[in-house]
Amino acid sequence: MSKLQSIKGMNDILPDQSPTWQYLESTFRKVVARFAYREIRFPILEHTQLFKRSIGEVTDIVEKEMYSFADRNGDNLSLRPEGTAGCVRAADQHGLLYNQTQRLWYQGPMFRREKPQKGRYRQFQQFGVEAFGMAGPDIDVEILQLGTALWQALALTEYLSLEINNIGSAQDRQRFGAALTAFLEPRAEQLDEDARRRMYTNPLRVLDSKNPAVQEALQGAPELADFVSEESATHYQRLRELLESLGIEYRENPRLVRGLDYYNNCVYEWTTESLGAQGAVCGGGRYDGLVQQLGGRPTLAAGFAIGAERLVLMLDSLDKVAASYRQSVDVYLVAIGDGSTEKSLALATALRGAYPQLRILSHCGGGKYNNQLKRAFASGAALAVILESEAAGSEVVEAARIRRLDDSGETVRVALDAVVATIGEYLTKSEA
Ligand code: AMP
Repeated sequence: MSKLQSIKGMNDILPDQSPTWQYLESTFRKVVARFAYREIRFPILEHTQLFKRSIGEVTDIVEKEMYSFADRNGDNLSLRPEGTAGCVRAADQHGLLYNQTQRLWYQGPMFRREKPQKGRYRQFQQFGVEAFGMAGPDIDVEILQLGTALWQALALTEYLSLEINNIGSAQDRQRFGAALTAFLEPRAEQLDEDARRRMYTNPLRVLDSKNPAVQEALQGAPELADFVSEESATHYQRLRELLESLGIEYRENPRLVRGLDYYNNCVYEWTTESLGAQGAVCGGGRYDGLVQQLGGRPTLAAGFAIGAERLVLMLDSLDKVAASYRQSVDVYLVAIGDGSTEKSLALATALRGAYPQLRILSHCGGGKYNNQLKRAFASGAALAVILESEAAGSEVVEAARIRRLDDSGETVRVALDAVVATIGEYLTKSEA
């Protein structure tokens, strides 16, 4: 029978790769805690309607990329393609948005049926932050400070650059969209099928087209910047002033629009050149209309989402994860002969109790001395503790050898009841 494989674009994270993930996850958690954000968890599966109403019916995600299916009772459900919609649904459903501010973070898998390639997968992890109830731009800047602090903590600052843009209010974009439709109508022949349809349903999405013919047809099209209201422009101006006063570097990119419909005013993206084509590692902005659009009271909101796989790729290729993170065993217990098994397992318990920070591996399954020692070396442990019966055929184990698993091969013999204390001395020496 042929073996089953994982689904294309949905990756396993193997033990050798997990240290980078753990490092990234723990660093993210520390940084969000420093900014007093609190964790929210919400389901991976939601009603399809939630994503249609938030991300937008006429977007690549909703039109082409969602994993949707009819539940057994006929409900239309989808695997979440991003976190903001579910976060807003959960926060509103449980009354977290009424008359109060919230600073929240989440982490988890998202699903989009995109063409898999380096940095682009069908199941991927996002870390996100969302802030509710604040008009900004101070909160927008706080969120950008949080991103900046994360890059600093990961030592990635020099590889990332921040791009920002003002995409105006929903009304501004409606007026701009109408102007865009009017501009495109006489050029319909130059457009492809997608663009011809979107020209009426969601003209801003025509701007995203990768088709050179469509980009050609867009030459001389109206510019969003000319439709942005004064209020939105003032917000954006103040945001830039605050960023400058804090020394947060940015570049303005008037073409930055984002692939989700719910954004307004300032949007931003951190990109890198070290990953090739999939250079965006974090994207976000304000989405002041979304809560109301999903049936809640009008609630100001802003946030961003980080693509974890892309950061993992960066951390690994730039060798940013400390070797100690990759260490999985500190002390390897070698047990030779029947009599040593019980002593070795008991010693492991004693060591784990005395030094909870140490990773103790107790060899199981028996085997010859040389084979066990080979495993001890291969484990990366710094020390081996070898228990062996006093004489062939005897079950008496009274002493142990503690061996450094380095070139020195230094070995000491100590009484069994002195092993725990002696390991403690080794620890003090290696810390000194
Ligand atoms: P978005 O939700 O589209 O704004 O994406 C936010 C971030 O998630 C992007 O900047 C990427 O880093 C990451 N991302 C989006 N789609 C994928 C994907 N298919 N595979 C891996 N990462 C992704």
